[in-house]
Amino acid sequence: MKIFETVEQNLKARGYCVRTFATAEEAAAYLDSAIDGKTVGFGGSVTLDAMGLYNLLSRHNTVAWHWKSDDPNAARKSAQAAQIYLASANGLAETGEILNIDGAGNRVASTLFGHEKVYFVIGRNKLAPTCEEALWRARNIAGPQNARRLGKKTPCAVKGDRCYDCKSPDRICRGLVTLWGPMMGMETEVILVDQDLGM
Ligand code: SF4
Repeated sequence: MKIFETVEQNLKARGYCVRTFATAEEAAAYLDSAIDGKTVGFGGSVTLDAMGLYNLLSRHNTVAWHWKSDDPNAARKSAQAAQIYLASANGLAETGEILNIDGAGNRVASTLFGHEKVYFVIGRNKLAPTCEEALWRARNIAGPQNARRLGKKTPCAVKGDRCYDCKSPDRICRGLVTLWGPMMGMETEVILVDQDLGM
């Protein structure tokens, strides 16, 4: 797939397993066949939600997702202990760095340690030429859009134009993780989808 040629090459050179799909439906079907009989945790993700993965995987796996639970904190802990973890990214550099900004920290922590395997499911809109531009995207596009989606009282949510590096108690950007490569001892697969997905 032309759009992913460079990033796919660079992700593979960094040690990731990479698969590309033309559509979210095809990517969801692949994940549905690859993950079976497992405990599965989800990080907060509009991408995963839009792909309907929670319902698909719940049919033949035990899935924990705080977005779908009456007890979000218990779901976060179950997700943290799961064999498999799924997340998206706030920014993906063509040079191969994967960036995520988090508020509670469960999502970024789970992409670093504790699972048999982690999947990153990333739409083409997350792609940026360099690590610096991917960070810019994570801070100035993903952050404000997520703050707005969550109804936060932050300047970015009100104006929706950029990050203000706010000191608001409602600030959702509390930590940044940049992955230079898959963490040791944990298989990591990157699923690239040639559609706009998530924020
Ligand atoms: S740091 Fe504050 S202003 Fe910047 S994106 Fe996050 S919540 Fe919005």
